[in-house]
Amino acid sequence: MSNAPQSEASTLSKIYYSKPSIGPLEAEYAADAAANGWAEHCFDYLNRFEKEFAEWLGVKHTVATTGATGALHMGLVALGIQPGDEVILGDINWIASAAPIVYLGAKPVFVDVLEDTWCLDPEKVEAAITPKTKAIMAVHLYGSIADMDALLDIGRRHGIPVVEDAAESMGSRWKNGQRTGTMGAYSAFSFHGSKTMTTGEGGMFATNDDKIAHTVKALNAHGRLPGQTKQFWADMIGYKYKMSNIQAALGCAQMQRLEDLIERRREIMAKYRARLGNLPLALNTEPEGTVNGFWMPTIVVNRDVKTFDRQALLDDMVAHNIDARVFFWPLTMLPMFEDKPQNEISYSLYQRAINLPSYYDLKDDEIDRVCDIIRRHV
Ligand SMILES: *Cc1c(COP(=O)(O)O)cnc(C)c1O
Repeated sequence: MSNAPQSEASTLSKIYYSKPSIGPLEAEYAADAAANGWAEHCFDYLNRFEKEFAEWLGVKHTVATTGATGALHMGLVALGIQPGDEVILGDINWIASAAPIVYLGAKPVFVDVLEDTWCLDPEKVEAAITPKTKAIMAVHLYGSIADMDALLDIGRRHGIPVVEDAAESMGSRWKNGQRTGTMGAYSAFSFHGSKTMTTGEGGMFATNDDKIAHTVKALNAHGRLPGQTKQFWADMIGYKYKMSNIQAALGCAQMQRLEDLIERRREIMAKYRARLGNLPLALNTEPEGTVNGFWMPTIVVNRDVKTFDRQALLDDMVAHNIDARVFFWPLTMLPMFEDKPQNEISYSLYQRAINLPSYYDLKDDEIDRVCDIIRRHV
């Protein structure tokens, strides 16, 4: 045995950053799909999941996929995005929103975000439009909602479709009560293990546009158009981003618990707010008349707290067995893209922000432990 003093961390239970909530219903459905979901039942959970998700969201068409990335990719293809085209999106983002643009040889044009929602700044979007702009991608970051009124208005005036990456915003509603993912030309959701609901890995494409839905259903099945009766006949080169029936079984169980899963995210956010609200920092916003699904509680320390050191806070979290995470980097800092420090808010935000642990079974005393550490650093 080592004589080294036991570190404080080893005596404290680990607080994870994110963990799904998987109960007996999920296990039952997944086991049923594995045992019985073949032959004439091979699409039962898949069809049910797509239908129930469409009803919950309030859209006409849904296509279950391997993830949001594939859904975004097929949507861009359906819009006809070509090499050399430009797609505008926020600089603070997960790479999955930008990668599909690059797959198509198009150019992601990264503009600055707003200080409070961390989503697209509509004025910056309008200023970035060129004759090559073929889409505006509104990513609803960490559950916050991009200003859809302004973005849809810009889209209409310039004849450019606005699409929604709603991977992080299940449960969020815009001012008119509409859920995120129902307002743009199409939207994508993610059921990655860290997201509000999960199928292990998985995603959903959603749209009210019949033509886009028709194309995406074909693209998701190796280019075989819906209704095509010729066997092994492809009408175009497509992709294979289909979700499996077993994953969809997990999805059906999570759908039954969805309102509870969302409510729990909101409850955890309220607990963080009650403990941290008096510190010189901002938490996820919920503008008047909107609902935030609060996928990921996040703190952004005020600019005037000059002593704040993000790395020191993260190191302290690790030392106390807490798995907190950095805020997304400005994507233009990554080696594949050109630097764009003129996106001043994006380049300032990431240095002042971290994501806090949040998952269904997170306990109050664990939230206390996280907040105690933050208080030492802010
Ligand atoms: C998780 C996520 C994605 C990617 O989802 P996958 O299901 O992993 O493909 C895309 N965009 C955003 C904003 C995300 O958070």
